[in-house]
Amino acid sequence: MIKAITFDLDDTLWDVWPVVERAERLLHDWLAARYPRIPQRFSPLELRELCGEIAAARPEIAHDRTRLRKDALQLAATWTGYLDFDADAAFAVFYIARNAVELFAEVRPTLERLAQRYTLASLSNGNADVGLIGLDDVFSFSLNAIETGVAKPEPLMFELACRQLNARPGQVVHVGDDPEHDVRGAANAGMRTVWVNRNGRDWPGGLRADAEIGSLAELEAVLVAWETGSG
Ligand SMILES: [Mg+2]
Repeated sequence: MIKAITFDLDDTLWDVWPVVERAERLLHDWLAARYPRIPQRFSPLELRELCGEIAAARPEIAHDRTRLRKDALQLAATWTGYLDFDADAAFAVFYIARNAVELFAEVRPTLERLAQRYTLASLSNGNADVGLIGLDDVFSFSLNAIETGVAKPEPLMFELACRQLNARPGQVVHVGDDPEHDVRGAANAGMRTVWVNRNGRDWPGGLRADAEIGSLAELEAVLVAWETGSG
């Protein structure tokens, strides 16, 4: 009855903000050595905010966090008078660090067990690289908003996942931390939903998830209850 499970990545399998902040600091140090006027004028936070301003001004690329980072860096370089700025090299510094995530303790053992029983895939709005992170052995495939061209909660990423899984939406469970992107998006696409609520947040309102868990360690019990019709 349940054929596959799709997982959000950031804040579902690891804490994303510590790793992003560290990546921003490392990039800032790298810029200081090569293009010092950029970090003199822009703090790491201001460079991040520049990404947000570009996203607001250019909604057609707002789903592509790699593009936003590169464009923000390029803009900052132009404004500070660097005409031969290497945005790709700068972004690479950020990107390596951004993928140095620390999985929540229960994540790998849980995914390894689930992968023996179900097909697993990841669906992310971010630009994490599942291969660099070392989860490509448990996920059959990974989709993100950059490749899909549209971010969750739009249905496209969920629909593409079902097609690739050769499954109907009702046979797929989506697991994620974001009430809007993950729960509402997947529910609208016809999937079952599990809200990962690690910090005891209140549900923000609207249609609730089919199940709520505090960590992935609780996921197997939810699936068993659904499979046996007791949930
Ligand atoms: Mg998330």
